[in-house]
Amino acid sequence: MAPLQEDLVIILRSQPFQERDRLVTFLTEGHGRLTGVAKGAIHSRRFGGSLDLFACSHMRWKETQGELVRIEEANTRRDFVELRSRLENLSAAGHFVDLCLRLTEDRHPSREVFLLLAHYLKLLEAAPATFEIVRSFEIKLLERLGWAPMLEQCVQCEKPFFGEELAPEESYVSLAVERGGFLCHDCSPSHTRHFPLASVLWMIQARETLIQHTPSLRFPLDPMLEAAAALQHFLRWHCPGLGNYGFRAHGMLETFLLEARQAPAPLVMPPPAAEPLPHEVLKES
Ligand SMILES: [Zn+2]
Repeated sequence: MAPLQEDLVIILRSQPFQERDRLVTFLTEGHGRLTGVAKGAIHSRRFGGSLDLFACSHMRWKETQGELVRIEEANTRRDFVELRSRLENLSAAGHFVDLCLRLTEDRHPSREVFLLLAHYLKLLEAAPATFEIVRSFEIKLLERLGWAPMLEQCVQCEKPFFGEELAPEESYVSLAVERGGFLCHDCSPSHTRHFPLASVLWMIQARETLIQHTPSLRFPLDPMLEAAAALQHFLRWHCPGLGNYGFRAHGMLETFLLEARQAPAPLVMPPPAAEPLPHEVLKES
């Protein structure tokens, strides 16, 4: 018999499987991303809400002969149910788990990504989702996965983008996704689309801002939309086998965020519940 394994997990996808079972993909704190079958989970109350999307649960499972594990037991530690109270927050959480689902690898431990997702789900319980929160998640995710785009200097001549006064016609760069960054004005081929340096600066700020401070970030809309498009290119570039894949929740999310941004008076969310996540999950790493 395979030994029982256990870990703290976040549910990334959960769907019915062969009438009575549930097929669940989850990100673990120490074992990477796994997919498993929970026998009889459709009709039995054994698992409660512990296998619902976004739930943070303590799970026990066994390896099988194949790729799938067999989920033996799961107990909800935090259901993040509060984030479902706003459409844009639910949509942002959907985007975050979708990115983690697509960009992590099976059984490749990624504790940093697990913690990042836990922090942002918790944040979405307390603060209305904004462009700035979503962009900061995307760029921090790329960084945690080891794919942070080079934002400080040209990927070809290594000239710094910032630090000296630039003429307006030089304050543009161009996207070089395949090289992991941007080309300066001088290195950019003449026909390429110009990308404002202001957007690169916003991306740096989104990367450097502590997670708990991201709700107070406010970037001008135009450079931020440019940054959003660039980040989509970087994320898709690293999505294995899905060069033109449109992330499931992304298009709708952007619409919700734009509507929320243009709404006259944002609703004030109630303060977050006092209950902390298990052990150090909430501490910024
Ligand atoms: Zn250059």
